[in-house]
Amino acid sequence: MNRLTLTLGLLMLLRGVFAAENSSVYSEAMLTVAERTNYERTSSLQEVVDVLDALNAQTELMHRETLLVTEQGREVPLVVLADPPVTTPEQAFQSNSLVVYIQANIHGGEVEGKEASLIAMRDILFGDKQHLLQNQILIFVPVYNADGNDTMDLNTRPNQDLSPAITGIRTANGYDLNRDGMIVEALETKALFEKVINRWDPDLLVDLHTTNGTWHGYSLTYAPAYHTAGEAPPTDYTAFEMLPEIQAAVREKFDLEFSWYGGFDYRDWPPKELRTYSHAPRYLTNNMGLRNRMAILSETFSHDPFYKRVHAANVFIEEILEYTYIFGPDIRAINLSADVAVRNSAIGQEKGVQFDMVPLPEPLDLLSYKYIPFEKEDGNIDFVRSSELVVTEGVQNYNAFIPSLTSRVPASYIFNGDFTFLKDKLEEHGIKVNILQADVTYTGEVFVVSEMDKSNFQLNGHENTLLDGEFQSAKRTFSRGDFIVSLNNRLAYLIFYLLEPQADDGLVFWNLFDDYFAEALAADNPVEYPLFKVY
Ligand SMILES: [Zn+2]
Repeated sequence: MNRLTLTLGLLMLLRGVFAAENSSVYSEAMLTVAERTNYERTSSLQEVVDVLDALNAQTELMHRETLLVTEQGREVPLVVLADPPVTTPEQAFQSNSLVVYIQANIHGGEVEGKEASLIAMRDILFGDKQHLLQNQILIFVPVYNADGNDTMDLNTRPNQDLSPAITGIRTANGYDLNRDGMIVEALETKALFEKVINRWDPDLLVDLHTTNGTWHGYSLTYAPAYHTAGEAPPTDYTAFEMLPEIQAAVREKFDLEFSWYGGFDYRDWPPKELRTYSHAPRYLTNNMGLRNRMAILSETFSHDPFYKRVHAANVFIEEILEYTYIFGPDIRAINLSADVAVRNSAIGQEKGVQFDMVPLPEPLDLLSYKYIPFEKEDGNIDFVRSSELVVTEGVQNYNAFIPSLTSRVPASYIFNGDFTFLKDKLEEHGIKVNILQADVTYTGEVFVVSEMDKSNFQLNGHENTLLDGEFQSAKRTFSRGDFIVSLNNRLAYLIFYLLEPQADDGLVFWNLFDDYFAEALAADNPVEYPLFKVY
């Protein structure tokens, strides 16, 4: 026997060993571009599709749909993994399984969730995570913002330590897709609501990002859907049961530190406060809170090298799914009882329409890089960051919100039959709008506008509108053909947030009524907000 046959014999023996340990050996085509290039490159949309094709070729458990065709003509894939396979939401509902939806790359330059979700799919279909499909249905969109992902260039994410050097850009055709949860203007958002949220009704949404620069000391930071007007239990369960369990599991199994999302001011060293971003439901994770569903925002640490960020994102995805694998029935029960609670008791509640960020009762021990003060030549004090990781105890954790302005949830909102644009907008959210079948006179409330302000900066091309004024009792007659929206509805708090005149992220804010207000102001009468509230 020469050396070559000996080597071949050994290889075949080893192959047998591997095949016995894993149920299958991965083919090279199942590796991500990141893995194949030693983490020097990230995938284009086509390269993601190539991996999905390679996975699909070896399994019966994958169902594929097209989420949308983007403005630039790219087909965005949506993948459903289930065992036994499902091809329709009806099959999913009948199976009574938990539905988890995981999306990556909504900001096209934040690339590791894309690679990590492909690796997770591979582990789940062929590797050591096959049990995760026993009782749950998993929907993946690895490239949510395909136009942003494929607009690849050098230096688009310099704070990612240029690893990979070439990435996509944040926006899709100039539009930030994670600010579109209320006005729903982008094709991606319309497709998300139509093809995922309203169709598959996921119990949990996971949105995978990368941070923008804070030098905390964690591999990954997270946030639940923040409390606004919605039911508390789905958010409280995510924040205080699920995420702490996952945090502990990740520490124990992988020696990684994950924690709450936020930034701190190093010029006030040592840090006293960790502050998160925003409660606003234009962010997709927060939007889920108004729908009585759970959501997790995931932010890998931008200053870690690419391979570490992919690892952290992959660990997070797989540990979330290990958790939902065990506690799926609890999660479903909490969500469905929130549906019942909203349907039965939203009407008449006093709920927030504007919010303040407040600390959680429990302060945290913040892991971060250490900053050292120095005196500049002009005599001012500045800070230089060291490479030492330190823990600051007792940091106020601003990861909660309380109302700063409230309003009362009506039994219905009624509006003129000419406002078909409003009916269409509500229907995009999955909200049912009814048509009055006869003329009816209602006693209720109208909001009389005293002041209309515009924000002095632009959000996705909008100069947002803010109203001042007051509700007044009134009697109004509406005609056959006018529209009525009932809040005896599991989406009551979403309807409320969209339609309240002073909501800080509602349809007024997003300029949907600007033309109406301009006309009314020109007529010089008292200006009434065109939605009538009935109790
Ligand atoms: Zn992001």
